[in-house]
Amino acid sequence: MQKITGKSLAAGAVIGRLKFYRAPEYEIDEGDYDDSEGEIERFHNARRAVKHHQKMLAQAAEEASDAEGASVFNSHAALLEDQGLIHRVEDFIIEMKKSAEYGVKVGFDDVADDIRSLPDPYISKRSDDVLELEREILEELTGVAGTIKFGQDPYILAAYDLTASEVARLDRHHVIAIVMKEGNLNTHASILAKGLGIPCVIRANAISAAYNGREAIVDGTEGIVYIDPEEETVIKYKEIMERNREFNDSLLQLRGKMTVTKDGKEVRLYANISGPEDVPLALDNDASGIGLFRSDFLYLKSRDYPTEEEQFEAYKKVLEEMKPRSVVIRTVDIGSDKSVPYLQLPEEDNPAIGMRAIRISLSRKDFFRTQLRALLRASVYGNLRIIFPMITSLEELLECKALLAECEMTLKNNDIKVGSYKTGVMIETPAAVFVAGDLAKEVDFMSVGTNDLTQFTLAVDRENPALDRFYDPHHPAVIEMIRMTIEAGHKHGCLVGICGELAGDTELTETFMRMGVDELSVNPQFVLPLRQKVRELDLSK
Ligand code: PEP
Ligand code: MG
Repeated sequence: MQKITGKSLAAGAVIGRLKFYRAPEYEIDEGDYDDSEGEIERFHNARRAVKHHQKMLAQAAEEASDAEGASVFNSHAALLEDQGLIHRVEDFIIEMKKSAEYGVKVGFDDVADDIRSLPDPYISKRSDDVLELEREILEELTGVAGTIKFGQDPYILAAYDLTASEVARLDRHHVIAIVMKEGNLNTHASILAKGLGIPCVIRANAISAAYNGREAIVDGTEGIVYIDPEEETVIKYKEIMERNREFNDSLLQLRGKMTVTKDGKEVRLYANISGPEDVPLALDNDASGIGLFRSDFLYLKSRDYPTEEEQFEAYKKVLEEMKPRSVVIRTVDIGSDKSVPYLQLPEEDNPAIGMRAIRISLSRKDFFRTQLRALLRASVYGNLRIIFPMITSLEELLECKALLAECEMTLKNNDIKVGSYKTGVMIETPAAVFVAGDLAKEVDFMSVGTNDLTQFTLAVDRENPALDRFYDPHHPAVIEMIRMTIEAGHKHGCLVGICGELAGDTELTETFMRMGVDELSVNPQFVLPLRQKVRELDLSK
């Protein structure tokens, strides 16, 4: 037995088999393929999909007045129609009886070599474009951007590190625990992993691919992983798992009960989700609504811009299933540690304070309008509240509201129904705290995003593991910011909630309740423990 210590990310214990995940390389099968016609068709389907993707990127670049970017993507799209290149791939597939992947790899490599050897440096540089398109087509063919899967049996997913988009794509029906060699508590990958309701251990330094397929115990509460556990340890953990089960069952008695202190102060207790697939967990845990649907994950899971229709369906599903409970949907907060290749965001030195969230939405207005239209159309199906992330000024908020009103008018002019909805603003920068009074006059609710608010108040990068001891959400400055926001909101009749990770921190529940917080939104599995905590409090004392 080997004991590996790491850091607890999400509590609980499981026993299972470990599967080690690595971001895949493209495996090219070099064997013979008889079905040349089928392989040719696969090649053309993938080629067309990539071409469509390049066209979309060109359109986005045009909208962002990026003429250079638009020209690059348009020339990529044109290259994908180049008959010389296409025939080279087809020849390998037909004459050598190879797979589409093989034809693309060898055909594109050949053409890239030819171009690279040309004397004109401007033209020879275009070999990079050919290789980039080769990678895109191989990605399309091999489906590496699809769900991360390891068969049909339950397993523990181990990895060196996982990005937010990898966590979003893992097979949640079969993954029973997560172990990462690296990882950090406050990243979006971790927030998403915590939301899965399974034990997670990060910084398990000694975990490696050598343990693939081995039996393991993951103790997410203590942050320990046992490889090839001995019988005694298995028995001990079976007892722990039984006790956990009993504890969770006891919490179920709180379903249907009010989230109210002994002296009668009630708080709305909501769940944070990242997509329709989380709704059953929120309902099982009796959340009174959704306090934060991070729509970003729809974008992260997708290989291309999610269409208006795809977004509409996702929002509608959540609204319908939660009805009549309210659902706060956050407009997209990508950028920072949630990168999506199709957005082609430039590399930044400080992405957390760079082109992210509302800054992308307000810079690429058509991209934003697509999401707003999807939200407005979905508003007919439930109790929708739209919230804007990373707002730092009243002007930004007014711009968002103006765009929303414009989209609403366009829809109505086209006889498309829009229901009623409320608007809100995330308070996650000190600037937003200081202008919270002005913002409150313009919205129905505000929600404090303590993860970013801590990062920006303390000037501590939430993603840098070396700074863990400096990232202190309990810092008096952060607590004071929350108090100021609640006070400013209430002055203008605006509801104030907390939806960052701090909302679920039971050490602070009493403080927040005494401040008069109206709503707390937490990971679904924290809903009942938090309800229990609130019900134990007596604020009259
Ligand atoms: C926050 O910053 O607290 C928040 C809720 O948003 P996110 O964690 O998605 O940045
Ligand atoms: Mg945030």
